Amino acid sequence: NKQIILKAHVSGFPKESDMDLKTSTIRLKVPQGSKAVLVKNLYLSCDPYMRSRMKKLDVPGYVPSFTPGSAISGYGVAKVLDSGHPNFKEGEFIWGMTGWEEYSLITAPETLFKIQYTDVPLSYYTGILGMPGMTAYAGFYELCSPKKGEYVFVSAASGAVGQLVGQFAKLMGCYVVGSAGTNDKVDLLKKKFGFDDAFNYKEENNLDAALKRYFPKGIDIYFENVGGKMLDAVLLNMRLHGRIAVCGMISQYNLDQHEGVHNLLRLIAMRIRMEGFLVGDYYHLYPKFLDFIRQYIKEGKIVYVEDSAEGLESGPTALIGLYTGRNVGKQVVVVAHE
Ligand code: NDP
Repeated sequence: NKQIILKAHVSGFPKESDMDLKTSTIRLKVPQGSKAVLVKNLYLSCDPYMRSRMKKLDVPGYVPSFTPGSAISGYGVAKVLDSGHPNFKEGEFIWGMTGWEEYSLITAPETLFKIQYTDVPLSYYTGILGMPGMTAYAGFYELCSPKKGEYVFVSAASGAVGQLVGQFAKLMGCYVVGSAGTNDKVDLLKKKFGFDDAFNYKEENNLDAALKRYFPKGIDIYFENVGGKMLDAVLLNMRLHGRIAVCGMISQYNLDQHEGVHNLLRLIAMRIRMEGFLVGDYYHLYPKFLDFIRQYIKEGKIVYVEDSAEGLESGPTALIGLYTGRNVGKQVVVVAHE
C-alpha cells in the first residue's frame, strides 16, 4: 500500500521534502466484527486547510494535526472493497475523509457520504459536488445575503471555491469581479466562468486603486479567500451595510507571524458585517445543495475546471502548489481511475 506520509511537523513554507512516499502492507479485508469500511482511493483533494494540519495545532473544534510518520489524510473519492458497516456495500462509491494512500481502512464510516449520482465525473465529489462546492454555497447564500444588482468581489477567484462563488453571484444577477494570480487565470474568469471583470493582483502595486477602478461605486459583498493586504484594501472599498464572508486567508497560512489588518475601523462607519464560517457547520444543507447544483450542471449553466495530477506520488507537489498558485482550478490527485 503506497502512502504519502508527513516526515515531521512543518513551519514556514511547506516543501515536497516534508513528505515522503512509503510502502506498507494492508490486508484487503475488514477485520471480523469491525464496523470499518475498506476502500480503494481514486481521487484525492488538495485543500488549503491541510497546511494547518502540517503543524502542531491545538484549536478546539478544528481538525487535528497530521501524525508524523503516518499517511496524511483529507477529502477523497473512493470505491468500497469490503464493508463491516450496514450502510456501505462492496462496489459503492463514497466521498469523505480518507488517507493519502492506495487503500484505506476507514474506521469511522459514519462521516462518509455515499455517492448516488455517477452521471458526472467522480472527481467532482472532491470539488464542485463536495466540500469546496458546499463551502461556496454556504458562504455565498447563507452568509452574504446576496441581492440582484449588488457588487461582489471574490479573491482566489479561479480556485475550487472561488470559481463557483463567481458563478453563483452571476446567477443571482450581481456584478462580479474576481482576482487571481496569473493572466491566464484572469482570462478563465472572464471567458469561462462569466465574471464581469477580473484582474491579476500580482500586477497591481496599489490594490486599493485597483479595486476603485473595478468598483467605482464600492463593494457590497466580499468573499474572502486570501486575507492580508487584499483584505485591507477591500475594507477601504466596502459600501454601507456590506458583507464580508471570511472563508479563508491563504496568504497567511505559511507565516509564523500573521500580518496585521489596518483598516478594521471601516467596519463601524460602514456598518459592515464580517463573519467567519466553517463548511462543517452546513452539511445539513448538502442534499438541497446537490439538487441545486446538479440541475445547473445539467443545464450547462455552471461549469467547473479541475487541475489533475496523475499518480499518488505527484501528491506532495500538487498540495504545496496551492500556496504558489500553481493550480488552475480545483487541484485533484488521481490515484486510480475507477
Ligand atoms: P484554491 O483552489 O483557490 O487554491 C488556492 C489558491 O490560492 C491558489 O491557486 C492561489 O491562486 C491562491 N493563493 C495562494 N497563495 C496566495 C497568496 N499568498 N495570496 C493570494 N492568493 C494566494 O483553493 P480553495 O478554493 O480550495 O480554497 C480557497 C479558500 O477557501 C482558502 O483560503 C481555503 O482555506 C478556504 N476554505 C475554507 C473553508 C471553510 O470551511 N471556511 C472550506 C474550504 C476552503 P492565485 O494564482 O490566484 O494566487
